[in-house]
Amino acid sequence: MKYLAFLLVAAILFCCSCGNESTNQNVNQSADSNMDQSFDKYKEALIENFWLLYPGQASGLGYHKHDSVLVIPDEVFHKKEIDFANQNLDSLKKFDSVKLSSTNKTDFYIMENALISLLFNAKEFREYEWNPAAYNVGGTFAEILQSKHASNPDKLRSLYLRMANIPAYYAAAKKIIKNPTAEHTDLGIRQNRGGLDVFNVMLMDSLKKSGMGAHESQMIEARIHESAKAIEDYAFWLEKEVKPSLKPETARNFRIGKDLYEKKFRHDIVSRFTAEEIYNKALQRKDEIQADMLKITAEIFTKYFPGVRVAGGFTKEHTKILIDEISKKHVHRDSFQVAIEKQIPELTKFISDKNLLYMDPSKPLVVRKEPAYMAGVAGASISSPGPYDKEGNTYYNVGSLAGYTAEGAESYLREYNHYILQVLNIHEAIPGHYAQLVYSNQSPSPVKSIFGNGAMIEGWAVYTERMMLENGYGNNEPEMWLMYNKWHLRAVCNTIIDYSIQVLGMKKEEVIKFLEEDAFQQKQEAENKWRRAALTQVQLTSYFTGYTEIYELREELKSKKGDKFNLKEFHEKFLSYGSAPVQYIRELMLEE
Ligand code: ZN
Ligand code: ZN
Repeated sequence: MKYLAFLLVAAILFCCSCGNESTNQNVNQSADSNMDQSFDKYKEALIENFWLLYPGQASGLGYHKHDSVLVIPDEVFHKKEIDFANQNLDSLKKFDSVKLSSTNKTDFYIMENALISLLFNAKEFREYEWNPAAYNVGGTFAEILQSKHASNPDKLRSLYLRMANIPAYYAAAKKIIKNPTAEHTDLGIRQNRGGLDVFNVMLMDSLKKSGMGAHESQMIEARIHESAKAIEDYAFWLEKEVKPSLKPETARNFRIGKDLYEKKFRHDIVSRFTAEEIYNKALQRKDEIQADMLKITAEIFTKYFPGVRVAGGFTKEHTKILIDEISKKHVHRDSFQVAIEKQIPELTKFISDKNLLYMDPSKPLVVRKEPAYMAGVAGASISSPGPYDKEGNTYYNVGSLAGYTAEGAESYLREYNHYILQVLNIHEAIPGHYAQLVYSNQSPSPVKSIFGNGAMIEGWAVYTERMMLENGYGNNEPEMWLMYNKWHLRAVCNTIIDYSIQVLGMKKEEVIKFLEEDAFQQKQEAENKWRRAALTQVQLTSYFTGYTEIYELREELKSKKGDKFNLKEFHEKFLSYGSAPVQYIRELMLEE
């Protein structure tokens, strides 16, 4: 249906432009500014109502109007969700998407998809019945407490109100959970117990420092204890009643199977391909990369192991040995952050020298040591100001190695060795996530910042890794390409194992073996990946799916435009649509 509508637009525009050669604004010709104005109003109202339904998500994004509200996740609530989605799908029909500006057109499809997805989750996927870890109040309390939008006592006052519903929240959870998976039950126990610190430690500390009067203080403290008790009761119930009742023969399988997987893929990833098609593309890409790695191995192996004779040709084993050897080239643990800071201007200079992308010099990226509350996550990450904090800085958080043993630091530094560290900076910062963010902030769309497409965002970062090397970043050194391939294989294999586990029933031992042998991963990394793939579905495919669609779009436009194709223009145009699904951006770019 959607695709047909776009074909129609393309046909109409083609006719219009015949008689009007002087303008190339064809896309906007059919845009109707009245329609756009009323659509803008509608979007605003929809988001307001969305936050009434999901106040916790609003708080997490920095919108603090509903901080004091904790929604009770019972049947009445799920009925409300379904009504909300149906009503808004009806209202959306009043707008003719063809007549909207391109920003609103993509917003239209993103909202439509979000509503359909909401219906799918509430009616069909029903994770709230089988995932006990879906119930956990800790995270949002921590987020509100850490935000700087209000004074400590004011935040404590709204959290006091928010705590009132915690016992009812967990009572509703106990009522609605039916035949959960054993894996998600364990996760629910662990995460809820982990979240107890938010109450017993964080909230208590903050209360002690608040300087509030004795009476108010005591009321809040009593409620903190009540909340902690409700959480512990829930974890205890999961552990002592639910867990023992789950028998391997009858308990729900954590694997969601082909039908649900395809549907979830369609809603969460929004690709023009099916999950199965993407899985097959990933298998093919894996073979390509491995062949390339073998070629490089043959080329440089004796440079690292002079005099070694290889009988019977090179194999993946040799590639693995070579990777281990090259990984020894890395920065000193004390200069990890400095090395990253130094690279940012170099990357900026490279994309400018090579004419790859314009970067606004007035928006520098701030590199900082990872704040304590994030400690233990990835080596580096981008923190961007949310849609409600436009003036906030964008930070590049770099993990500190201070707490590592000598051995731990060495292993970490080999993982983020001289070559991989550069690919990481490309991915996270320039021209990856950070650059994409700067562009998407230029045409601010609350819809895209709230319902932004993860596959487009991750896909862009993965795409830029290859694009940079193709344009000569790293001087085409074989070591650089080898390490890039290893890094890229991770994204490719994320797709392969997610589909293999959730749809094809791949077992844990097979997954670990595959990641160690085919993706050159360390055992610990492979184990962590298994856990993530078993407990989540589809998200792991976002990196490779987005990458594939962007790369294919570029190649398609290249062959269409021939000599007129300009890489910098392509990148800037692509990013100008904001974090919309690549599928929609593609339709708009091909229209022109
Ligand atoms: Zn070392
Ligand atoms: Zn990323």
